[in-house]
Amino acid sequence: MLTPAILPEIITTIRQIIADNADEITALDQAIGDGDHVINLQRGLRALMAQNEAWNGLEWATAFQKIGMTLMSSVGGASGSLYGTLFISMSKSASEQPLNLVTFAEVFMRGIEAMKQRGKSDVGEKTMLDVLVPVAVQLQTSANNYEAVGDVLAALEHIAIAGMESTKYMLATKGRASFLGERSKNYIDAGAKTAQLMISALLSVVKSQLT
Ligand code: ADP
Ligand code: MG
Repeated sequence: MLTPAILPEIITTIRQIIADNADEITALDQAIGDGDHVINLQRGLRALMAQNEAWNGLEWATAFQKIGMTLMSSVGGASGSLYGTLFISMSKSASEQPLNLVTFAEVFMRGIEAMKQRGKSDVGEKTMLDVLVPVAVQLQTSANNYEAVGDVLAALEHIAIAGMESTKYMLATKGRASFLGERSKNYIDAGAKTAQLMISALLSVVKSQLT
């Protein structure tokens, strides 16, 4: 089973993929948002990196709590409170049961439900939830069917990309992009793009550890 000792590698890989795509994401966010999304996330990732010594030996519930609190206080914007909520909620449900793929899928789903409540939003509103919700659903389905880990990871990667791409022609009804009405169409949502990239980075690290 993976432990929080894997977090420095995950955080480093996520920072790299966000850096590699920063210009493209910022252009999207400037078109329909206020252009600060990448900077917000990078501030959060730096704050997590600064704690890289601290993850070793922690339980996942404690690590999720630390991640959530750090993101809450460092990221700012809508994404800071949403990702903070995700991890703090995951911390609560992770402390109730030992983690395996099936229970992790349940913990992640409960975290996503908490995000939906926090943002008063759901799929179809052109946000990061268009990536995160289908990923959570797919993870639960795959885990409950005891699919092979390699197949689960590949399915999640695919679902995340499809979710990100699905935001392109959506009308934004939440967040700053919603102020633009019809003009929010024809752009991929920046938060959906970063969610997809972060999931992709996470999956690649998990794959290298488990296969
Ligand atoms: P802000 O919008 O406050 O400037 P960011 O720029 O960091 O915050 O994040 C913007 C992203 O947050 C959007 O691209 C969208 O994916 C997501 N987002 C904004 N509002 C909501 C909401 N109510 N529910 C879910 N996601 C949201
Ligand atoms: Mg913004």
